Amino acid sequence: QFKDNTLIVVFGASGDLAKKKTYPALFGLYRNGYLPKDVHIVGYARTKMDQEEYQTRTTSYIKNPNDDPEVAVKIEEFKKISSYVSGNYDDSPSFQNLARHIEAIEKSYKSSEINRLFYLALPPSVFVPVAKHVKECCYAANGTNRIIVEKPFGKDLESCRLLLSSLKQSWKEEETYRIDHYLGKEMVKNLLVLRFANVAMGAAWDKHSISNVQISFKEPFGTEGRGGYFDEFGIIRDILQNHLLQVLSILTMERPVSFASEDIRDEKVKVLRAIPPIKREDVLLGQYVGANGKPGYLDDDTVPKDSVCPTFAATTLWINNERWEGVPFILKAGKALNEAKVEIRMQFKDVTQGIFKDISRNELVIRIQPSEAVYLKLNAKTPGFAFRAIPTEMDLTYKRRFTDTKIPEAYEALILDALQGDHSNFVRDDELDVAWKIFTPILHWIEGKEGPCPRPLPYPYGSRGPKELDNFIGKLGYKRAAKEEYSWPTTNLS
Ligand code: NAP
Ligand code: NAP
Repeated sequence: QFKDNTLIVVFGASGDLAKKKTYPALFGLYRNGYLPKDVHIVGYARTKMDQEEYQTRTTSYIKNPNDDPEVAVKIEEFKKISSYVSGNYDDSPSFQNLARHIEAIEKSYKSSEINRLFYLALPPSVFVPVAKHVKECCYAANGTNRIIVEKPFGKDLESCRLLLSSLKQSWKEEETYRIDHYLGKEMVKNLLVLRFANVAMGAAWDKHSISNVQISFKEPFGTEGRGGYFDEFGIIRDILQNHLLQVLSILTMERPVSFASEDIRDEKVKVLRAIPPIKREDVLLGQYVGANGKPGYLDDDTVPKDSVCPTFAATTLWINNERWEGVPFILKAGKALNEAKVEIRMQFKDVTQGIFKDISRNELVIRIQPSEAVYLKLNAKTPGFAFRAIPTEMDLTYKRRFTDTKIPEAYEALILDALQGDHSNFVRDDELDVAWKIFTPILHWIEGKEGPCPRPLPYPYGSRGPKELDNFIGKLGYKRAAKEEYSWPTTNLS
């Protein structure tokens, strides 16, 4: 349960994340009665803003499409529990000023126990000084203090370790909540239930039944003027090393002893430790080029003209344990592709030949976004007189099955978890360490730290990725059903 008498401070309140995600999520929780009683939110950043400007900015992404008067009233109430302080990130007087502001608000709390949640919606360059100053000047002496930190957690193993140890000088692990917002997504949370609450699923969850697994992230747009930030990180750091690897760990871990956060995180770390660093031959890199009137990556003015930064990557990971030995796990992600989707596709092995020949494989698809769904592609007899197997599906489309349920935003779910002190959906220090061990060697190779860097393969804006992709995945055993064999009725919801 969360505690009352809680104050939330959002650092970087003038920024993009705060505006688009943090404040809308806080509002979503507030509106539905999930914030602690008498909660107050304080925004903090360097930008000079008066209260009105701050409120306009922080509520600009809160949706009220039908002009619902009830929502409008809630927005006005929400504004009243929120205030702003401007200050620097690296000097004590600024934080002492913030502390005075906080204490003045907390005078109204009818308890000597005061709880504070600090949310760092800031670039990583200021994580450490802010964490240090908050601890020195704004730490509640009598109550619970928690700090939420956003990615990126370093750029490789060494820089991650340095960041972790610097933050640990002021904040204990149990006070720290490292966000990977994929862990707040409904379908990612659903994995534990799908796997461990269903005997039918659990029985098929190993090398005996599964041929190969793809975890894919596809985005239909390029960097479009924001390439400067992206070019420093690349698609592997942006998506694979954190989001997709988190999904992989939950998909493949053993059954935890309980749902307690440390039991879950122990199992995630254990399976990640069974994955050796990715080999160069298990990597396919791409960079999009202009097509159909859309610019290529190098046409983005904010990108260096000779950049070899990958905007597409497919990497194969192998898990050296008894359950998964020999099963390729392909993590793939790309920008400027043909569609927007994030999905897990587990392909089963071929059925025993003999009475059936060359029929489609079973596939379990878990669509994380858009439009959450779980479907199992399976063969059935063609209806009618013919005795032939055709691929069809057992389908759980959330929109259709759970018509009245609103799925919370990932940031709503995560902020609520942090308020309740539940670490299950946050990244532990040792998880980060092992995640970087898996990816650091190929990242250093791609960046030319170990000799000439590999050139990414070109792919046209709006395509599925480099043309070499199908061969890369085919060699790992993936077999696609012929288009004429499997189709999804267009009248269905999707
Ligand atoms: P941002 O808008 O660039 O930065 C947030 C605020 O930090 C700015 O408004 C600015 O506030 C301050 N700031 C910016 N650059 C700074 C610098 N070099 N030195 C000191 N202060 C600086 O960043 P963001 O997009 O909100 O992201 C914040 C964090 O969340 C980052 O770690 C990012 O990786 C992570 N994240 C963002 C998103 C997203 O959708 N945007 C998604 C996932 C994770 P003042 O100038 O007013 O102080
Ligand atoms: P699909 O979109 O046909 O993709 C299946 C797999 O084949 C993916 O791994 C995809 O790779 C690959 N692929 C796509 N086009 C290809 C091509 N031209 N050449 C080689 N490989 C290709 O997915 P599906 O599961 O068979 O479903 C078909 C359609 O039915 C989809 O639109 C799906 O959304 C819909 N459907 C919806 C539901 C539901 O909403 N509940 C249920 C069942 C089916 P990439 O990942 O790289 O694209």
